[in-house]
Amino acid sequence: MERAIANLKNANALSLDGICGLGTAELEGLVRPSGYFRQKAARLKGFCSFVKARHGSLEAMKRLGGPNLRAELLSVNGIGNETCDSIMLYALGKRIFVVDAYTKRIVSRLLGLRNEPSYDELQEAFHSALRKDIGLYKDMHAQLVELAKRHCTKSDPLCEGCPLLEMCTRGAGAATGRQPRISCPPCACSFSSPAPP
Ligand code: SF4
Repeated sequence: MERAIANLKNANALSLDGICGLGTAELEGLVRPSGYFRQKAARLKGFCSFVKARHGSLEAMKRLGGPNLRAELLSVNGIGNETCDSIMLYALGKRIFVVDAYTKRIVSRLLGLRNEPSYDELQEAFHSALRKDIGLYKDMHAQLVELAKRHCTKSDPLCEGCPLLEMCTRGAGAATGRQPRISCPPCACSFSSPAPP
């Protein structure tokens, strides 16, 4: 991803006008290092064209309220919950927590869930638990990504040395046979349905 961004910068195209002004083949070439380059180029161009046509600029788009903005973004082809909320938080400065596959994996293991919670359910849980602070949302998201890369990997997580080990159902249970120190209070959400040991 970093190389694709550097390519766009070097081509003086890291802007709405810049991206909209590129031909399809040229844009695909610039974002090629990020993988799935054809799909990404098409979606990037689609998003930039949408913003320009609808709002004229990102600054104008920022002035929309959160719920309206979210609904608008989700109506753009190729933009799902995670992409939408990443744009909202990082590009538009809106206070919304981004849930990704890493977050789902870590929380599921932490609480010993049989099924991964839904996007909305997990986002709501973070919104309720965290101080309402954009910087904190960004930091928490970044730390979860790092944790997933260093310790909570997709298969064979490296629980030894993980900062969440003492409170993790999977980690603490696997290492010592002890019960974890946290438990999920009974409620209506899927968080309260832990997997059997
Ligand atoms: S203790 Fe293990 S399973 Fe639990 S969050 Fe850390 S790496 Fe993941």
